Amino acid sequence: MAAELFNLTIHEAAEKLRSKEVSSRELTQAVLDRIAAVDGKVKAFVTVTPDQALAQADEMDKVLARGEATSPLTGIPINLKDVLSTKGVRTTCSSKMLENFVPVFNATVVERLRQAGTVLVGKTNMDEFAMGSSTENSGFFTTHNPWNLDTVPGGSSGGSSASVAAGMGFLSLGSDTGGSIRQPAALTGVVGFKPTYGRVSRFGLIAFASSLDQVGPFTRDVTDCALALNTISGFDKNDSTSINLPVPDYTRGLTGDIKGMRLALPKEYFVEGVEPGVEAAIRAAVRKFEELGATVEEVSMPHTKYALSTYYIIAPSEASANLARYDGVKYGYSDKKAPNLIEGYFSTRDEGFGPEVKRRIMIGTYALSSGYYDAYYLKAQKVRTLIKSDFDKVFETFDAIISPTSPTVAFKIGEKTADPLAMYLSDIFTIPANMAGTPGVSIPGGFSDGLPVGLQILGPALGEEKILQIAYAYEQATEWHKQRPPLN
Ligand code: GLN
Repeated sequence: MAAELFNLTIHEAAEKLRSKEVSSRELTQAVLDRIAAVDGKVKAFVTVTPDQALAQADEMDKVLARGEATSPLTGIPINLKDVLSTKGVRTTCSSKMLENFVPVFNATVVERLRQAGTVLVGKTNMDEFAMGSSTENSGFFTTHNPWNLDTVPGGSSGGSSASVAAGMGFLSLGSDTGGSIRQPAALTGVVGFKPTYGRVSRFGLIAFASSLDQVGPFTRDVTDCALALNTISGFDKNDSTSINLPVPDYTRGLTGDIKGMRLALPKEYFVEGVEPGVEAAIRAAVRKFEELGATVEEVSMPHTKYALSTYYIIAPSEASANLARYDGVKYGYSDKKAPNLIEGYFSTRDEGFGPEVKRRIMIGTYALSSGYYDAYYLKAQKVRTLIKSDFDKVFETFDAIISPTSPTVAFKIGEKTADPLAMYLSDIFTIPANMAGTPGVSIPGGFSDGLPVGLQILGPALGEEKILQIAYAYEQATEWHKQRPPLN
C-alpha cells in the first residue's frame, strides 16, 4: 500500500519528479482519484478544485522539465484548511456565514506555497471558525477519522489531518490556536507542527484569537514537515506580529543524533483522564529516547492546571472582537429579509453562526464587559504570564518537553457533543504552548486500541530546529509513521 503514489511522502515524490519517474499531473491525478474513491466516507473536503489543480500540475511539469524547479515542493499536490484565504477559491471557515465567500487575495502562506510550485487540490473541513476539537462543529458536515470511520479526526483542522492520513494530499496547512494542528495530527497518526508565535505569517488567516493563532503544516513524516516549514516561515510586512529573523534550513537538524539531550517530562501531563493506552505509549517513547542517548527527567509545571480555564477566557474574548466583522454588510451571509439595519445585524448573526461560535462570542463579550474585564480578561492575562514562566524555567535546563498530545485517542462521533467541557479537555496538553507562544509538534507515537497515539514535543521560542531534530531521531527509530489507515 505504501507504494501507492498518493501515499508517498513529499521527499519521495519530489525524487520521482526529478528522475521523471512520475509527473506532477500523475501525482495530482492520483490524489484526485483517491479523493473520488474515499472522500465519500472520510468527508475531509469542503471544496475540491480538480480543473485548476490539473492545469497547475501541467504548468509545474513544464517548470520541472526545464530544470527550473526552485523547491522540493514543486509539483506536489496539497490542500489547505478552509480558514486560509485563497484568491478566487471559496473560503468558508466551515461556516454558513462565509459559505459563498470568495477572497480577492491569497494568505501569505498560500502565496509562498504557490511560488514554491505546489498544486492546490482543495480546501478542507474544520470546526466552524476553528472552534472545536472534532470537526463536529462544522456548519456543513463532520469529517470521519480514516483509521475508524465511527471516530472523529480531531479538530479544529480535522479535514486537513484526515486528508493527509488518507492519502488525499501530501501536505495540508492548518491553524493552531489551542491545539488545532497537534491534536488532529495525533488522532489521525500524522505529523502536525505549531510554530513559534510570529514565525509564520497570519496574514490572510481568518482570525479566531489573534494572540494565539498560528499556521502550520500536516505531513506524513518529519522530513516533509521541515520542508514545509522552510517554505512557509519568515517575516511578512503584512503581519505586524511576524518575527523579522532569518529562517534556518530546518532539514539541517535531521541527523538522527540526540545524544546528550535533556528532555523534560512534566508530571502535570500525566494526570487522571489520560487513557492507559496513551500513557503506556508515551512511557515507551521515553525509553526509546533514553536508548537514543537522551536523558529524560520528571519536572513540574505547576501552572498547567490553569491553562484550560485561562484559554477559555482569552480565546473567546479575542474571538468576540474578531467575529464582530461578520455583520451582514461587509462579508458573507446577510439576511436580506430583515426590515432594517439593526434587525439585520441580529438575524444575520443568529442565522449565520452555529451554536459553539455563539457560545464563544457570549463568553468573550461577557469577559470583556466593563466591570468584568479586570476579574476575567486581565486576570487571565496575568495567569498566562505564569504559564509562560513555567516554560521559561524548564527551558533554562532542558532542550525540550515531551508529553502526550491528547489525553485520549480518537473518540466516537457524538460522544462529547453534548458536553462542551469534556470536548474542551481534549486540548489540555496543547493549550499551554499557545499561551506561551512556543512551538510544538505531534508525531506518531504508537497505537492504542488500533488508533494512533500522538507524541508531543515542545520546545523554546524559535526552537523549531531542535524539536525537529528530536522528532526525526524518534521517527527514524520507530515504524509508526509508516502505518497507513486501512481504508480502501
Ligand atoms: N479546540 C480548541 C478550541 O476549541 C482549540 C481550537 C484551535 O486551536 N483552533 O478552541
